[in-house]
Amino acid sequence: MKAYIETSGCQMNENDSERIIYLFEREGYNRTRDIEKSDLIILNTCTVRERAKNRLYGHIGNLKRLKSKNNDILICIGGCIAQNLKERIIEDFPFVDIVFGTHNIAELPDLIKRKIAGGKSICSVRDDGYDPDIFKVKREYDFKAYVPITIGCDNYCSYCIVPFVRGKERSIEKNKIIKNINMLACGGVIEVTLLGQNVNSYGKGLDDKCTFPQLLEEVSDIKKIRRIRFLTSHPKDFSKDITGIMKRRKNLAKHVHLPLQSGSNRILKKMNRLYSREDYLNIISNIKDNIPDCSITTDIIIGFPGEKREDFVKTLDMVKKVRFARAFTFIYSPREGTRAYKFKDCIPMKDKQKWFRELLDIQNMISLEENKKFIGHKFEVLVEGRSKKGTCMMEGRMENNTVVNFRGSAGLIGKILSVKITGAKSFYLMGKLD
Ligand code: SAM
Ligand code: SF4
Repeated sequence: MKAYIETSGCQMNENDSERIIYLFEREGYNRTRDIEKSDLIILNTCTVRERAKNRLYGHIGNLKRLKSKNNDILICIGGCIAQNLKERIIEDFPFVDIVFGTHNIAELPDLIKRKIAGGKSICSVRDDGYDPDIFKVKREYDFKAYVPITIGCDNYCSYCIVPFVRGKERSIEKNKIIKNINMLACGGVIEVTLLGQNVNSYGKGLDDKCTFPQLLEEVSDIKKIRRIRFLTSHPKDFSKDITGIMKRRKNLAKHVHLPLQSGSNRILKKMNRLYSREDYLNIISNIKDNIPDCSITTDIIIGFPGEKREDFVKTLDMVKKVRFARAFTFIYSPREGTRAYKFKDCIPMKDKQKWFRELLDIQNMISLEENKKFIGHKFEVLVEGRSKKGTCMMEGRMENNTVVNFRGSAGLIGKILSVKITGAKSFYLMGKLD
């Protein structure tokens, strides 16, 4: 029996898919990348923006053709859209067999057995929950791993649906995280990415008190782990202690992803982000003073309700001041159920698109200028796989997360090698093995 899985959205969803793959392989399914040849189709979905939902709806519609050719194929919809829409998915697409929520992943094998045993479509969506087997995954890579440290989110940024589809924020006990990373290290993993919607607030509500900086320090003691990354940091909770540890500890990768969202204090307030542009700039100065070669990446939303040209100009000003290595930019998408959904004064789409383009042009120029500074220098690169840039080309990442393409062979995958940078584009570098 063959199973096909498709994942949309963030690293959390990628990590959830690794858990789903572990579960279906345990049940005797082999993974296939060919949807036409699969007996079980799982779509792990994202609902952060409306477009993702529209795309999914188009995609599920296409699956009807496969189902009409072979009625035994099982179609399962999981992830954030499933958590959000629940039975509505089955009402809209009666040929969908199983809808499972973000807190119901562990149940999937039982749901599949129940459906195969006969009966109507199943929707299993719990409002909250925590799977003690969260670390049981089939990883995409042998040498690097995602490690969830918190699940859910309590921040309720006014535009964001995540707290509604991922539940309350909970931290995973430190001893479980450390045990898991030790096991990963013994199994050959050399890079871990600690995951959470706001990793900086790690530890809230734990009996055994531990803060995020304390956790980082303990993970960093596991010397076989050569690179420790963490995602995502929230500026309201980013403390100087984190910068201090990153400066002291060699295996903490010099990269901080710190979503700005807007450069205007008025908009940040309406977004409920709980920091100002001045707070943000103070964090950046602290990082740059202590770790000059640290790269900083960000997320920015354009066209939030009520945003004026002068607010947007303040965002552009921040982009120029901070000089992000990369910015993930999004056009504001109203999400039903969030506070901002009710906000008036929506920006016309043509303005949003114009501002978006303007921001991208400036950011791409900055990314290119920053990348050009690496030309002629040598860096340690963790080889991740084949590059899409051509045959015989491999792709890897520098400690600061910049992607490097270079000539090499598959035997190098998983190794950290010295690469001399020979060329730069906005989103990647070209290099030569040293
Ligand atoms: N927890 C992370 C944080 O606070 O930065 C990010 C989580 S969210 C999955 C990733 C990014 O999606 C956010 O940083 C934000 O820029 C963007 N995003 C979230 N809701 C959005 C919306 N309604 N419209 C457009 N972009 C949105
Ligand atoms: Fe969404 Fe804000 Fe939570 Fe990030 S911190 S997931 S943007 S509510």
